[in-house]
Amino acid sequence: MSKILIIEDEEAIADLEKDYLELSGFEVEIEHRGDVGLKRSLTEDFNLVILDLMLPEMNGFDICREIRAQKNTPIIMVSAKKDDIDKIRGLGLGADDYMTKPFSPSELVARVKAHLARYERLIGSGVQENDIIEIRGIKIDKTARRVWVNGEERNFTTKEFDLLTFLAQNPNRVFTKDELFREIWDMESVGDIATVTVHIKKIREKIEFNTAKPQYIETIWGVGYRFKV
Ligand code: CA
Repeated sequence: MSKILIIEDEEAIADLEKDYLELSGFEVEIEHRGDVGLKRSLTEDFNLVILDLMLPEMNGFDICREIRAQKNTPIIMVSAKKDDIDKIRGLGLGADDYMTKPFSPSELVARVKAHLARYERLIGSGVQENDIIEIRGIKIDKTARRVWVNGEERNFTTKEFDLLTFLAQNPNRVFTKDELFREIWDMESVGDIATVTVHIKKIREKIEFNTAKPQYIETIWGVGYRFKV
């Protein structure tokens, strides 16, 4: 269920907005003070924030700027003054929408739904475009950290997964064991380049049909490894 935070100091307005949004199936929280509203926006997981402009302790301009510096949560800004709305539009604070009070609650609900849907599409398309690698029967889901070989899931340790993903993301490039060790293991790690050899062996056991004749990760003798495409 989508969770919405209303930052609004006029209680009657906040309550009315909350009632309508709850009727539409949203979970809603209200915060009357600007500074507390900002803190909650940053530390809790809200799907959308409805932000009033004039608030005690901290105004909506600053809150919007601060949220945007850290998060992509959709923000709908509201104000009683049409002039203020025009002004904040011009500032480019990164709010997703602006509404002048008084507005009809059903109009607010419609806009909330539209922004949530748009945001979910953005997030969803990101996963499909960036986070899955597919090469000749191997599918790596970087987001979920899962790997399938010809449709069958295989389990990888953290470092095996990181090493396989790094090589698959840079196909046909030869990396030395030193380079791979520096890339996957941080400087404080105990171990040496022999660790790379051991991990390559384990990865091959999980992805190759015949480990003596690897089809994916090739050994370039005297140099290192490459993921062949
Ligand atoms: Ca106000």
